[in-house]
Amino acid sequence: MNNQPTAFLNYPQAIIDIGGLRHNLQQVRKLAPYSQIMAVVKADGYAHGLEGVVRSLSTEADAFAVSRLEEALMLRQAGHRYPIVLLTGVGNKEELQLAAAYHLTPVIHDVIQLDLLRQSLVTTPLAVWIKVDTGMHRLGFPPERVTEVIASLRCCQPVASIMGLMSHLANADQVEDSYTRQQLEVFNNISAPGLARSIANSAAIMTYPQAHLNWVRPGIMLYGVSPFTHCTGMDMGLKPVMTLKSCLIAIHRLCAGDKVGYGITWTCSKPTIVGVAAIGYGDGYPRHAVSGTPVLVNGYPVPLIGRVSMDMITLDLDHQPTAKVGDPVVVWGERLPVEEIAHHAATIPYELLCQVTARVPRIWNK
Ligand SMILES: *Cc1c(COP(=O)(O)O)cnc(C)c1O
Repeated sequence: MNNQPTAFLNYPQAIIDIGGLRHNLQQVRKLAPYSQIMAVVKADGYAHGLEGVVRSLSTEADAFAVSRLEEALMLRQAGHRYPIVLLTGVGNKEELQLAAAYHLTPVIHDVIQLDLLRQSLVTTPLAVWIKVDTGMHRLGFPPERVTEVIASLRCCQPVASIMGLMSHLANADQVEDSYTRQQLEVFNNISAPGLARSIANSAAIMTYPQAHLNWVRPGIMLYGVSPFTHCTGMDMGLKPVMTLKSCLIAIHRLCAGDKVGYGITWTCSKPTIVGVAAIGYGDGYPRHAVSGTPVLVNGYPVPLIGRVSMDMITLDLDHQPTAKVGDPVVVWGERLPVEEIAHHAATIPYELLCQVTARVPRIWNK
């Protein structure tokens, strides 16, 4: 090869498209025009970068939701003053004190949290959400206890206001699902006059308008990704926000019979040009991606071959014979939906996004 560059980028980057994030939030507005939007940014903004996601959506979202206190404190320390909901609430006195001091809005889902509030000497007024279990059986009070929980919260000195009732759907990614209808009915039948309600995740926002209620809670769709297995975010008018890219760092011309990678799981059936790209499971590319998983080289799909290593993957470049070291490689994002990669790795796109590791720099594009 005579046209080798003398230098190349030998690590992957996650390019985060701010315009895409904003576009996707606008899609939520269009779908649920009468609801307020609680943008779900847990798990480091589905690994896009918590602070950047919040900064990008700050003027558009009505509140943000995280799972853990740490994430909320990080946002407060970065200077964000928007409402922040703690989806799993607080676990002890110290957390409750911090939640109050930093004006966070915990979800109260268990009697232990009620007791914490009752015994608390916190003086800063606190707003809370009440979580109700309508059938997922993960978090929340049984519907028949809601009246009592409300009464009890209204007597708690630190509780200044109850934001509303929140519940979560177990099966909303199934279209026309009877269990979802049943959960909605249970939720609607709870008597709690004057309180706002929220039950819709991305799947329900897109397919169950009757679930929108006062607040919707989009997560995955903000990142341009579909919660459904039968279609991609792009099919639904969303823009993929993260493009995970790297580049070719070596090219080999192998003979028929030559083996590739750990476990020598791939044998060339013919003379093959094999490309090595600088990305692996140490970056979050799924080790379970099978041979044949598409990867874009110079914008064109080529198949992954052999096992995924910690820092590298190997590709069959027979349909990209002019590719050279330094050429761009995209493993998901623009023009290659992460939904498709999830399918080849027997997982869901949520998991692939969350697995992108800290060593991958996030590059924010306007
Ligand atoms: C994660 C989460 C959401 C968002 O779910 P998506 O499927 O990503 O839209 C909404 N509500 C709660 C309670 C969650 O934990």
